[in-house]
Amino acid sequence: GGLKFTVVEAATGAIGGKFSHEFMVVKEGDENFIGEETLVICSKCGYSANIEKAECKYPDEQTNNKEIEKKLEEVYTPQMRTVEEVSSFLKQPKEKFIKTLVYVTENKEEVYVVLVRGDYEINETKLKDVLNVNEIQLASSELVEQIFGVPVGFLGPVGLKTTSQKYKLKFVADYSISTIKNAISGANKIDYLLININYIRDFVVDIIADIRNITANDICPRCKAKNSLKFSKGIEVGHTFKLGTKYSKSMNATFLDENNKEQVFIMGCYGIGISRIVAAAIEQNHDEDGIIWYPTIAPFTVYILPIDYKDPEIKNVADNVYKLLKQNNIEVLLDDREERAGVKFKDADLIGIPIRLTISKKLLPDKLELYLRQTKQKSVVYINELLNRINESIVYLLKF
Ligand SMILES: [Zn+2]
Repeated sequence: GGLKFTVVEAATGAIGGKFSHEFMVVKEGDENFIGEETLVICSKCGYSANIEKAECKYPDEQTNNKEIEKKLEEVYTPQMRTVEEVSSFLKQPKEKFIKTLVYVTENKEEVYVVLVRGDYEINETKLKDVLNVNEIQLASSELVEQIFGVPVGFLGPVGLKTTSQKYKLKFVADYSISTIKNAISGANKIDYLLININYIRDFVVDIIADIRNITANDICPRCKAKNSLKFSKGIEVGHTFKLGTKYSKSMNATFLDENNKEQVFIMGCYGIGISRIVAAAIEQNHDEDGIIWYPTIAPFTVYILPIDYKDPEIKNVADNVYKLLKQNNIEVLLDDREERAGVKFKDADLIGIPIRLTISKKLLPDKLELYLRQTKQKSVVYINELLNRINESIVYLLKF
């Protein structure tokens, strides 16, 4: 029971090391679940990863494209800026296009021309990893024009030149561009495209690597199954890192082993998002009336709701029940406000304490109503059996 989470392979980011796992709160079957991370899960083998990390593999048929390489040609495409527009104009699928993007480092000294197939998205985490830089950003359209003298929509990998020697260019391509035959991309000239572009014959790159996001059309990186990948949103609440000897080596942190030989420590570390867990738990466990706290993380276990706290008999029982629970180490909240009963019921549902005790004239002097927020079950209990009923209820709620 409790917070439902899944453990996924993750990118290590600035901390480094090769292996890390994120603990993600997810909600199966809820497509509207809010999460800042996108996870990919294989329904065949159970592989799961953050898309920042999920590796893109190629099925063999994709690398066996037998199309004959045609002659490079310029095509006039007035007023067309997007892949979509040109794709419908030339009646060619997006898979035929090479998208040309420009990234710069924070100090704008390094300029990276990044190439990916038209239907794919660049994965900036992978890109940073490949380039071995911590920060990178898409160049603004002004900067692109300044560097190349051409708007970004007309850039292409063939014959791309800078306006000044001061810009140091590096060409970085995703593997996906290497298998396109007779590709289409910008001609580095306003309103013109180049068609029949072929990698190696017409251009080369400095780095070719996996730098794109995995898609539903990809094969599973682990079991290579087709059509098995599903995507879902997740909220990251924890992250473990296997650091290995990355830090111990550089800081010379060693110990003597049983043979009196110096060895470097093998390290790991983790982080838990305490306050995120609260938000994620609410996102995962709520209904139209409010929060449904799981007993182990609820701020209180019991909510006492006296229908009318000004009534001496009700007040007396409410205060005594409050004391009794306190004495028995049960975390309890007493609603002693002078509000209408309806307001208190609404608020009790909204803040979602697992067990609500309603004290009303009609059940006094010896009984009250016990209500479970999770299941909406109500029962009438004798006050002298209350502690047992509460403990049974907690055990029952822990099964959810
Ligand atoms: Zn798989």
